[in-house]
Amino acid sequence: MAEEKLWTIESGNVVELFETDLQNGLSAGEAETRLRKYGPNTLREVRKKGALEIFFEQFKSLIVLLLAAAALLSFGFEEIVEGIAILAVILINALIGYFIEIRAVRSMEALRQLSSVDAVVRRDGKAELISADRLVPGDVVVLEGGDVVTADMRLCEASRLQVDESALTGESVPVNKITETVSADAPLAERINMLYKGTAITRGSAVAIVTASGMETELGKISSLVSEAEKGETPLEKRLDDLGKKLVYVTIGLTVIIAILGILRGKEAFLMIKTAVALAVAGIPEGLPIVATIALARGMLRMARRNALINRLASVETLGATNIICTDKTGTLTENRMTVTELWLPEGEVKLESGRFNLDGSPLDPKKDEQLFEAIKISVLCNNAALDRDDPDKSVGDPLEVALLAAGAKAGLIRDELRDKFPEKREEAFDSVEKRMATFHEDGDGFYVAVKGAPEAILDISDKIIKDGSIADFDSEEKDRWIKFNNDMALQGLRVLALANKTTADVAEDPYDNLIFTGMIALMDPPREDVRESIELCQEAGIRVIMVTGDQAPTAQTIAYQVGLTDQQDARVMPTRELVSYDTMTAEQKQDVSTVPIFARVSPAQKLDIIALHQEQGQIVAMTGDGVNDAPALKKADIGIAMGQRGTQVAREAADMVLKDDAFATIVTAIEQGRVIFNNIRRFVVYLMSCNVSEILAVAVASLANTPLPLLPLQILFLNLVTDVFPALALGVGEGDPEIMKRPSRKSSESIVEKAHWAFIGGFGVLIALTVLVAFGIAMWTLEKEYPQAVTISFLSLAFAQLFHVFNMRDSGTHPFYNSITRNRWVWGALVLCTGLLFMAVYLPGLSSVLKLTDPGMDGWLVVAVASIFPYIAGQVFRSVTKPVDRAGQK
Ligand code: ADP
Ligand code: MG
Repeated sequence: MAEEKLWTIESGNVVELFETDLQNGLSAGEAETRLRKYGPNTLREVRKKGALEIFFEQFKSLIVLLLAAAALLSFGFEEIVEGIAILAVILINALIGYFIEIRAVRSMEALRQLSSVDAVVRRDGKAELISADRLVPGDVVVLEGGDVVTADMRLCEASRLQVDESALTGESVPVNKITETVSADAPLAERINMLYKGTAITRGSAVAIVTASGMETELGKISSLVSEAEKGETPLEKRLDDLGKKLVYVTIGLTVIIAILGILRGKEAFLMIKTAVALAVAGIPEGLPIVATIALARGMLRMARRNALINRLASVETLGATNIICTDKTGTLTENRMTVTELWLPEGEVKLESGRFNLDGSPLDPKKDEQLFEAIKISVLCNNAALDRDDPDKSVGDPLEVALLAAGAKAGLIRDELRDKFPEKREEAFDSVEKRMATFHEDGDGFYVAVKGAPEAILDISDKIIKDGSIADFDSEEKDRWIKFNNDMALQGLRVLALANKTTADVAEDPYDNLIFTGMIALMDPPREDVRESIELCQEAGIRVIMVTGDQAPTAQTIAYQVGLTDQQDARVMPTRELVSYDTMTAEQKQDVSTVPIFARVSPAQKLDIIALHQEQGQIVAMTGDGVNDAPALKKADIGIAMGQRGTQVAREAADMVLKDDAFATIVTAIEQGRVIFNNIRRFVVYLMSCNVSEILAVAVASLANTPLPLLPLQILFLNLVTDVFPALALGVGEGDPEIMKRPSRKSSESIVEKAHWAFIGGFGVLIALTVLVAFGIAMWTLEKEYPQAVTISFLSLAFAQLFHVFNMRDSGTHPFYNSITRNRWVWGALVLCTGLLFMAVYLPGLSSVLKLTDPGMDGWLVVAVASIFPYIAGQVFRSVTKPVDRAGQK
């Protein structure tokens, strides 16, 4: 269907083509069928995995293959019980994997729901509000001004419809849309009867049929084209993968050698093969990716509770390595709650104090003072907000414009009344590159043009000014005076807008020439309270905060100073004109520019350069954005951050993270969580590996030394696939400790397992293996136990040593009994569970005979206790005398 040129066909035929009904829409059942066929309406392809699929995926692994081979061998040697036991192990392994993964997958789906955007559709004859990602081709959608277009659509009804298509066409002027057909060769920008995903309705209302969803939309096609911004695997996934692959080779190599040596030493061949398989299972880090997933997913849920919604699982890890935050000013560092505080008019400085306008201390009547009246009239007419005078919090629109309306109301100029007198005929919308907007209003025979925008954007194009009651030339000397007024206000941290007007006979005239300058208006937007604290936290944590704003330099400098982002009022600002030459900058220039703390008057396109600049210096960059034009920058940044409140849906879809409260502090919290999660993942990797090394070593030494094996194959499997898993999982979901932001950020090149961690793994692997072997030796030759009892003693020594070893995973320098491990209730749960399982392994009749375990006796238990506590004590001593492992890898 999508191949048809739908803009050439009458809308009635489109309705037929898509087998739908304009009044009743699709039926719920049909919508469901189509959703399955076309997939969800999202830009990223997030396919929902079924439970069965997840279950069967658990069997597609090297471990299962190895175990299946072992099971076959067992059946071949007529060891039926053992064969069945191995099959049971495969099943248990799959079940554990399944439950972990299903939890991860489902919680991620829940998270995605949180950030979804809604659309009004007709289904089964009723209007319904559904999540936009459930839109399917053929859906009948009802739209109105302010809505975002969430799929590609063909218009069926349109009334005064205007759409901002700049996301797709780059054209910032909203286009009028009607239902009439256009010729087949019309380019996208001229298909006036189509609506495209990612664009926004600026005015009017419409009913339209969805013609394409998700990646099939025009936006979807571009976003896959500009996929230089698209990122592949995150460093973490890649590293876990690399690590896993290496370990597979090393493990298989080692186990083959152990088996051969054992057989050469005269051990039974079949036993050695099974032992090798079991050791291979122990060594292969099959559990790593899935524990990583659950650690990430749990972390994401914690973040969601703190107002940070993560779009991509992988971003969580990148967050932890973030060392540059590029943040906008308005609404993130500031409250975005503006009030007009003063105006500069040709006659002088007018302050707005407790609802009154005062010129040099004496009150001014806005209705009588012509200059003040004119200025207020412009700011009220050239305005798209709606003020709720009873409850200002309910006002809609740009807070800056709301503030202008509030000031207007204080002067007795009400927008609706004014608009009735001067009906709006045309609007030249605000655009963040030109930084100005204009409206045309009917006024007698001609039109009144109201213009507002950034001071430099207005001063440049104004050539007249009111002077002593009449219109005079606006010469450059006079302009310099106004530039100074602007600066004075900006230096107080105020946002400044310039105002201008003119009258014309032609509504199609360019609004931006021959303007009469009428003055400037300044607004206060106080910094958010918690920002200073968060910035301090960033400084401790080695994260640089850079302000990237569309506002002018002096305002930016003052706010930066007020929130503690810079320590002097006149900190260096990059006028972004210099950035235009980014491609031709020398390495030194780039290095130099990358130290600047404030970038002012930045356009969305320049954000890309700012990101590139820092990424080239090897930094991990987070960048905020809210507009449709910010999407490329949000994609290019390592962490794109969109605003949940003032952000467009396009920005939210392009971002890695959405701030529900738009607050800077939330970014910092999310970074903290990112670090916690990375640390957790590192902890369980290190923990699991030191456990595995101890098992392999203990068996390896025994087979070389020609003694009986201290562990039997099924016991190794039991330890690995049952008891190791739970403490590791618990480590993976810990809450982390508050100290984590007192350290510098992780280098992006830093591996999960650094040299210091390898040493730890090796050291404790050897230590645990040794104590187990000694315990085994004592049992065999000092206590002269039977082999089954001796094996039970070494098995239990190893098992408990590993359980206690969890406490050795605390950070160095933390309190031995009060730290993030002992505070983790999951750890305690895992310990209780595993202890129970171990007792079952020894004392539960059927299980104990399969595992070849038996009661070790009181003296045996004593040996187990001493042997298993020994590595714990060594670990605690080690943790008390060493510096944190994290810092060791830092330098
Ligand atoms: P930021 O959000 O980073 O402060 P914006 O890109 O929103 O910057 O705005 C840049 C500049 O454009 C502002 O400093 C202001 O001068 C001007 N401006 C902002 N909003 C409007 C508006 N609604 N109408 C006219 N000019 C505006
Ligand atoms: Mg803004």
